[in-house]
Amino acid sequence: MSFILRGLLSGGRAVYRARAPCLHYGSVAPDICERTLVAVKPDGVQRRLVGEIIKRFEKRGFKLVGMKLLQAPEGILSEHYHDLQKKPFYPALIHYMASGPVVAMVWEGHNVVKSSRLMVGETDSSQAKPGTVRGDFSVHISRNVIHASDSVEVAEKEIGLWFHRAELVSWETNDHIDLYQV
Ligand code: UDP
Ligand code: MG
Repeated sequence: MSFILRGLLSGGRAVYRARAPCLHYGSVAPDICERTLVAVKPDGVQRRLVGEIIKRFEKRGFKLVGMKLLQAPEGILSEHYHDLQKKPFYPALIHYMASGPVVAMVWEGHNVVKSSRLMVGETDSSQAKPGTVRGDFSVHISRNVIHASDSVEVAEKEIGLWFHRAELVSWETNDHIDLYQV
């Protein structure tokens, strides 16, 4: 059985529900269909950290439903960091994010937005705890390796900004009984 993501068109781009309509396996099924955008930034790609980062999300039990390597267009970056455009570091941030390819991914699972932020660690790498991506692989806020959406609402917008509807794949795992009480 499969389900179809409902994309709502907004400004020419599809906006996807971070809480997509989802299969429920039983009466106590948790919300296992929350989605978030995770992106390995250009420094992470250059440093060959893509596999390490994917491994962490897979081992945690999240499900990959979208992934691509791309040279991020300026339009996506300016929209993505729209709220930061008045910050003094904004020009350097855009330059950094456009300096090489990024790997954009959509991960799905229970509480994935909050869990991803915890796995990624503090924005300022010097404050990021060991065991987090930033705490293990980054020493400075300006080169902090990875992005993860910071709320379900933001995840919804960011997924719609970075991915077209057809690029997201809804698929069933057969390990949900090991991962969730269903
Ligand atoms: N950033 C920076 N200098 C700062 C604050 C942020 O270069 O003083 C960059 C950094 O790459 C960060 C991104 O801007 O990841 C977005 O900032 P935000 O506060 O949204 O942090 P995040 O959500 O990535 O943890
Ligand atoms: Mg942010």
